[in-house]
Amino acid sequence: MPSRDDAAKTEEMKLEWEKMFFFCDDPARTRRYFQIIKAVFDNTVEGIVITDANGIIRMVNAAFSTITGYAPEEALGKNPRILKSDRHPPEFYENFWKRLVNDGKWEGEIWNRRKNGEVYPEWMVCSAVYDEEGNAEHYISVFNDLSEVKFKDAQIELRSNYDYLTGLPNKEMFQSRLSGELAHRERNSERLALLVFDINRFKNINDTLGHFVGDSVLRKVGSLLSECIGSGGLVSRIGGDDFHILLPDVHTPDEIVGQVKRVFECLSDPVDVEGHRLFLSASVGISVFPEDGRDVDDLLKRADIAMGKAKESGISSYRFFTEELGRRASLKLTLENALREGLERNEFHLHYQPKYCIRRGAFSGAEALLRWNSPEGPVPPSDFIPLAEETGLILSLGEEVFRKVCRQIAEWRSRGYSPGEIAVNLSARQFHQKGLLSRMKGILGEYDVPPSLLGIEITESGIMENLMDSIAVLSGMKDLGMTVYVDDFGTGYSSLNYLKRLPIDVLKIDKSFIDGVLEDPNDAAITRAVVGIARSLGLRVVAEGVETPEQLDFLRRNGCDEIQGYLLSRLLPPDAFEKFGESEIPLCFNGLSGYNHC
Ligand code: C2E
Ligand code: MG
Ligand code: MG
Repeated sequence: MPSRDDAAKTEEMKLEWEKMFFFCDDPARTRRYFQIIKAVFDNTVEGIVITDANGIIRMVNAAFSTITGYAPEEALGKNPRILKSDRHPPEFYENFWKRLVNDGKWEGEIWNRRKNGEVYPEWMVCSAVYDEEGNAEHYISVFNDLSEVKFKDAQIELRSNYDYLTGLPNKEMFQSRLSGELAHRERNSERLALLVFDINRFKNINDTLGHFVGDSVLRKVGSLLSECIGSGGLVSRIGGDDFHILLPDVHTPDEIVGQVKRVFECLSDPVDVEGHRLFLSASVGISVFPEDGRDVDDLLKRADIAMGKAKESGISSYRFFTEELGRRASLKLTLENALREGLERNEFHLHYQPKYCIRRGAFSGAEALLRWNSPEGPVPPSDFIPLAEETGLILSLGEEVFRKVCRQIAEWRSRGYSPGEIAVNLSARQFHQKGLLSRMKGILGEYDVPPSLLGIEITESGIMENLMDSIAVLSGMKDLGMTVYVDDFGTGYSSLNYLKRLPIDVLKIDKSFIDGVLEDPNDAAITRAVVGIARSLGLRVVAEGVETPEQLDFLRRNGCDEIQGYLLSRLLPPDAFEKFGESEIPLCFNGLSGYNHC
């Protein structure tokens, strides 16, 4: 609280000002007062600019010249715009003038440009001086150069958040970012990986080549790591040769392994430091949120434990804290490599599952299904198709399937055997790839196969991934003359709204409904409904996975057109399929015999 004395002093000062104005008629006193004000003007460390009502500079003080670099004669008669930097948008200046005109005062931080081009921050107070009529006659700006203060702030921030040696974020900053990321995940539980990275035998480098070389190695590794991890992650040096890496955007263990492998790749070239050529390797421990912990301490502790285990196993190795995650990732990676090699070594073959047309009582063709005989034994499509999708290998694999089918049809035809229509499965990624139609057209032409002998199976979800694109591709296929199937119908959207807009020919009722068609009234109702929908839209219906004569009977009674399943035949290699096509139809198919195809 101001004391009575303070209040009296303020009062005195007010009187002093009043005296100055009052004694303006006395030239001697006026001169003295004027000298006081001039001394303030000349000696203050704040820059002062006085402009007229039009904003033309009429007076500047010495501090103005010190701060801006402009001598008085360079500034007088000019507009203060000479000081303007490009740091502020036009709205900033609009607001400045609005406040000055409306309130008579503006105060705030502003970035200006010195004569030497340097942009610097100022704290500025600008006020208007009015004439008797209340019109602004002058504007006075008083400003401080803030660059020193800012520089000190930046230095403090630099010292407290960054590692002095590598310039990378330090432990404090890393942990604060990590806890921020974890707090964010409280709500969505998305994965996050923490890597503890340690240079192998770094102590040797320090001991034998000295700390100067050791420091250079750390700087080099720091910049390699941040280059390799990129802006998506955060690399930090915690101390010594320990680096921590945060990977906030990883979804699967194999994505994490992918990043770690990239790090190892970055380190695989020798590094040249201070005239020494060094081969570096590292050990990496990995902990994953949420599997390995939900807070900073747990995750760091576990990544550290994993790093210890990685170190035991030698040169450039990594370990997940949860071994199961590591196993999953390496299994997937092994499978991916095997898939690539399998494609090169031609380990993929097609088998054919016959189809039967109930209406005509005859075989109607087959579905081509891919088989992989890897050196470790057969791998089911449910294991390798999703992986091939994920890695993009499905594109070459799918093209190979289409080519194999066309080649096979051509071969059968050349021997006088008509296999009926062969349906090929297309996964979503294949279906939406650019240039698919023209490639298919090219292959059909190459083997001289009529497109009407081919069917294309695509799942509902594959179609829905990009409906407009799907409609265009499906139309193109139909225009070519191929038959279009919606596979696994009933498991996806099954919306009549989109179904009627799709250029399709056949609905394939999913096996899961056929399984329960006799016992589960819901499955029976769905199956009947699918047949009804197909009828009303003028489409054919195929039931897949038919295993018993009773299921066949149900489907026949309810108007299903075709069936496919173990009741008729399992998957057959090409020569067995050819023999099957020429054989008699089993008795349970109502005694109808012959091999006249639909
Ligand atoms: P899908 O197209 O729905 O194929 C039908 C699956 O049901 C096949 O499994 C077939 O062997 C099986 N199946 C047929 N009848 C019966 C039956 O009576 N009982 C039982 N239990 N199963 C039966 P598969 O060959 O394992 O294929 C699984 C999935 O893999 C296929 O489902 C298809 O989505 C995909 N796939 C297979 N080959 C290819 C291909 O060449 N390209 C693409 N993109 N996907 C393929
Ligand atoms: Mg299919
Ligand atoms: Mg299916």
